[in-house]
Amino acid sequence: MRVTFWGAAQTVTGSMHHIEAAGKRFLLDCGLYQGRRREAFERNSHFPFPVSSIDGVILSHAHIDHSGNLPTLVHNGYSGPIYTTPATVDLCLPMLTDSAFLQQKDVEFCNRRREHRRSKGLDDHECDPLYLPEDAERVHPLFRAVELGETKEVAPGFRYRTYEAGHMLGATSMVIEADGVRLAFSGDVGRKHLPIIRDPITPDPVDYLIMESTYGDRFHKPVANVASKLAEVINRTARRGGKIIVPCFAVGRTQQLVMVLHQLMDAHEIPSIPIFVDSPLAINVTEVFRKHPECYDEETRQMLSNGDPFGFSRLTYVREASESKKLNELHGPFLILAASGMCEGGRILHHLRNNIEDPRNTVLITGFQAEYTLGRKILNGDREVPIFGEPTPLRAEVISLDELSGHADQRELIEWMRPLAAGLKKVFLVHGEPAQGAALAEVIRQEFKLDVQQPSRGHSFLLN
Ligand SMILES: [Zn+2]
Repeated sequence: MRVTFWGAAQTVTGSMHHIEAAGKRFLLDCGLYQGRRREAFERNSHFPFPVSSIDGVILSHAHIDHSGNLPTLVHNGYSGPIYTTPATVDLCLPMLTDSAFLQQKDVEFCNRRREHRRSKGLDDHECDPLYLPEDAERVHPLFRAVELGETKEVAPGFRYRTYEAGHMLGATSMVIEADGVRLAFSGDVGRKHLPIIRDPITPDPVDYLIMESTYGDRFHKPVANVASKLAEVINRTARRGGKIIVPCFAVGRTQQLVMVLHQLMDAHEIPSIPIFVDSPLAINVTEVFRKHPECYDEETRQMLSNGDPFGFSRLTYVREASESKKLNELHGPFLILAASGMCEGGRILHHLRNNIEDPRNTVLITGFQAEYTLGRKILNGDREVPIFGEPTPLRAEVISLDELSGHADQRELIEWMRPLAAGLKKVFLVHGEPAQGAALAEVIRQEFKLDVQQPSRGHSFLLN
């Protein structure tokens, strides 16, 4: 078996690993690389192997950094199967379509700016969309649903089995077995006790492990603190008449926060302020969540028996752009959840532009913020941040709620891999910035005396 790392290698996004085994070639994930526009476009639009050589794709979960370049693959002629769980299949349709729309909008903005720069005599590159909504739609018929825990023979002598990753609805870790080698791929490993989804499960023993390292040098606060911390932030902001602006991943984080807000409001631990989910994608995705109760944990099943976990009287889902604009005129206190989670596009940009100059307001960061993103700049506490290309003073309170992180921290990753350690020949760390990977590698070497690699893009290893 040969594995070549083509994405999420010494970085977080663009997860894509190439596996050659049993005479076949498979991709594990086909994610979108997110970063500086030109570099991202180059990297996403050119596959480093002939697309026609790929026999199949195995997808760990629906997040765009794992699934988001599937439309480019299909646009380049791929028509083979894409194996993943039923919930991931259903999530991918709205998510990939949304990704295509966001790219189109970004290109329109980029080309407007280009015109402006050209009118000033400055040369600038033309921007093209990476793929179109119709490319995203063409991915859907290629999905082959594989139930969680099922062992699937995807080619003669090439099997894979999935395990609950505890990271998002439908997300899996997996074990691939071919050529007498057993290789585990963690996908993204979640945390215990996260709302809605079940806890992560460590796969059965393997020879090699590809593991994520997003938070390889961090320690999260316990998930149990989320509700009280959220209540504190909301109460404090509401007392000063402010708004709580929550850049929020439309998939997973929004539904988790809605559920916690539902519980807090039922328990009268937060004032009865209006709450808006301002994201058509989040609305579509919430429908997918309602369709897949087989993925819920016990607590959510209980809530389901008392009604809709994702609906309550003070909550409004805002689908129309015109309704979203009306929120600009509304006085606080209220809370808005809007995408995108790293503030790289979507309706959150308008809410940030309109609200971050007012010190009564709060920006509540609820997830991982990649390097160079607007979300990272806000989280870093920059005094001025660029929104729609304009420098905008940041005076609102900024709070980070990393308890809800969908990614295990260093301690949790070590505990997750502990049952595998004794039988491992090598560990490959992916899906982390170099410093995160290096810190985690050091702990794994000390704790388990294992050979740990942080492969670069294009690095290839023969596994036997
Ligand atoms: Zn993920």
